[in-house]
Amino acid sequence: MNWKDSNTTLQILKNAENGKYGVLATIAYTLDHVIAMVQAAENKRSPLIIQFFPWAITHSKGNLIKAAKVVAENASVPVALHLDHCQNEEIVKFAASELPFDSIMVDMSHYEKEENLRKTKDLVKFCNDHRKATEAEPGRIEGGEDGIMDTEELEGILTTPDEADLFLQAGIDILSPAIGNFHGDYPPAGPQLRFELLEALESYTRARDVRLCLHGTNDFTPKLLQDNIDRGVSKINVNKLVLDTHLEFFQKNANRISLTTLFDDSNKILVERMEYWIEQCRSAGRAK
Ligand SMILES: [Zn+2]
Repeated sequence: MNWKDSNTTLQILKNAENGKYGVLATIAYTLDHVIAMVQAAENKRSPLIIQFFPWAITHSKGNLIKAAKVVAENASVPVALHLDHCQNEEIVKFAASELPFDSIMVDMSHYEKEENLRKTKDLVKFCNDHRKATEAEPGRIEGGEDGIMDTEELEGILTTPDEADLFLQAGIDILSPAIGNFHGDYPPAGPQLRFELLEALESYTRARDVRLCLHGTNDFTPKLLQDNIDRGVSKINVNKLVLDTHLEFFQKNANRISLTTLFDDSNKILVERMEYWIEQCRSAGRAK
């Protein structure tokens, strides 16, 4: 059996694509976030992908990922661990060979196209040799996130099927297209996505057994999320969408209540918010 058939990220996403629902891929910053996110997935009987920025590795010498793995393994629903936007080649290699990730996003988009493709291909092979699935982003999604190089100065480039094909040839398992999505907060007009492009990419990736991932979901409405899922997107990256009310509560109450109450109550808010978005993705009750 090919190792990819038992890779947790790929299993979760393939089931989602076949079942026409989306799975949240939630950014966690602390072990506390991991615990609340898994709790919500268990409450809703939903699969879940928890993802980390490379910051989480350097911040903890990788220990946060190892601790998250313990939580994931003890969960009663499938939970995969994913590394988001890894722009540093050494960290990709460390994460692939030393840490319990199921999948890694190789992000060399800050290099010129040919260099980007060459590096992506080499790193995908390295990851696959260590049984990690890979994700990449042809084109360029605008904006910046925590610990990720701000590419706002670089022009956002849309992903064409031709461009996607070059990355598929590099052997990636998950494609994150740039279809007008934006990292961080959207301009006042809100997200303006190019669905005709997404539809063209979907028929292309599906035929090649590659899954689709949506980045830049801040300010998304449930309807917009579902419009993407209806067009075949299975991996839904979220950050602020689930963490916003939790962080607000934390900031407001950090000096007012005991630490144990602060952690309990703020995590309760995170669990509720997670449950809401799990429902919107239609992944509730889908855990196998
Ligand atoms: Zn992203």
